[in-house]
Amino acid sequence: MYLKGVEIYGFKSFGERIRIDFDGGITSIVGPNGSGKSNILDGILWVLGEQSYKNIRAKESKDIIFSGGEGKKPANYAEVSLFIDNRDNFFPIEADSIKITRKMSQNGDNDYLINDKKVRLKDIGELFLDTGVGKSAYSVIGQGKVERIISSSNKEIKSIIEEAAGVKKFQQKKMESEKRLEKVQNELEKIELVLNEIGENRTRVEKQSKKAIEYLSLKDEKNILQKGVLTFDLNSKDEILKSGEKEQERLTTIT
Ligand code: ATP
Repeated sequence: MYLKGVEIYGFKSFGERIRIDFDGGITSIVGPNGSGKSNILDGILWVLGEQSYKNIRAKESKDIIFSGGEGKKPANYAEVSLFIDNRDNFFPIEADSIKITRKMSQNGDNDYLINDKKVRLKDIGELFLDTGVGKSAYSVIGQGKVERIISSSNKEIKSIIEEAAGVKKFQQKKMESEKRLEKVQNELEKIELVLNEIGENRTRVEKQSKKAIEYLSLKDEKNILQKGVLTFDLNSKDEILKSGEKEQERLTTIT
């Protein structure tokens, strides 16, 4: 993987579209003071997703759009593209060459593109995360930045070393996993509450069903007893009837 070219239009001092090719090895850009050498580095950082205008030596977004000069009209937008050789599949994109573009219009709207397809800023960040190339990876070091690194606090230096060693990616993944774990834990607590409620309802329903079974068996017993009482009544009435008939028969024979 290597940066094989940069194309710039409307960014800072570049009122005309220019393409700079890097052929491998060391490329030196020379020119008089104020001719735009550092603007090229600013452009590279900007494509990589730099959001701090201070870091690319501007006060606000509109400062990065070519404001005109030397008979040239101001640009309507700024656009910088990086061309990366990916023949070694360093980036997980199935393409030998990757073009990464950032475009900003006068109203401050930004578009990010990978191989001419619109993507989110997050996608650019993730593509470069822990590759040693990102906007904060110290692969783009402008004037004065070396002194800034040397005079950084221990915490900042630790962060630089972690980025270079590729630890940042895992830290970010760890943080994401911890967040997901917390979410799952909260969901589990909610499910436990629902399960407790279901458990209480179940005990209540079990008690009710027990009572219903008792009621049905008592009702059956009552029916059996009622049948017994009716049979007893019927038998005793039958006997009374029979003795009445006998008495009637006796009386008839006397007469
Ligand atoms: P040095 O060698 O002094 O560091 P340099 O070659 O790195 O200089 P830069 O700092 O890249 O030069 O460029 C500064 C120039 O860019 C200035 O002349 C400034 O006017 C010009 N410039 C910056 N922003 C814009 C803009 N939006 N429109 C037009 N020109 C701009």
